[in-house]
Amino acid sequence: MAPRLVIFGRQGAGKGTQCAFLTDHYGAVHISTGDMLREAVAAGTEFGALAKPFMDSGQLLPDDVMVGVVRERLSESDVSERGFLLDGFPRTVPQAEALCAEVEVDLGVNLDVSEEVSRARMLDRGRNDDTPEAIDKRLAAYADQTVPTIEWFAAQDRMVTVDGVGEQAEVSARLVAAINERLGS
Ligand code: AMP
Repeated sequence: MAPRLVIFGRQGAGKGTQCAFLTDHYGAVHISTGDMLREAVAAGTEFGALAKPFMDSGQLLPDDVMVGVVRERLSESDVSERGFLLDGFPRTVPQAEALCAEVEVDLGVNLDVSEEVSRARMLDRGRNDDTPEAIDKRLAAYADQTVPTIEWFAAQDRMVTVDGVGEQAEVSARLVAAINERLGS
């Protein structure tokens, strides 16, 4: 099986850890737009310089920019061989529309934690872009743009929601059970 999955979850939902588990479990390629952007910032590229102010303030980059970045990555051969787990994209309905116009997506997976849990975990991890203002902006962007994206997948009956609160292994087991049930494997 080369599953084509997109994962949703507020920051601090444990998405990074669970994505590492899922990509290993399914052999899929992990494509994290946040990681790609952070790498571009660290490498000091022109694209990184463009992205940084958005990231620092908790705002989303423009859809056309992100669609271009993901399109390029999805065109690489490892993706067609192994499938993918998209993490951090799509975050808006236009991004979802652009994605699904180009590639088949089997399932959206919502790793669900409340705003309160998300806020507490972000404050706890203390990353230097985790200022209270940036956290508020990120949660607002999630509510305004990403929740409708989740609903967009749900309306097409392509979404499972998994409770993200609990022991890491327990959440991993829930994810695999939910995904396998929906993908019929
Ligand atoms: P993440 O690690 O996924 O939370 O991404 C970190 C930051 O990168 C976000 O707060 C946004 O500024 C930017 N970003 C990542 N993915 C996207 C996307 N799909 N659309 C717009 N901005 C994004």
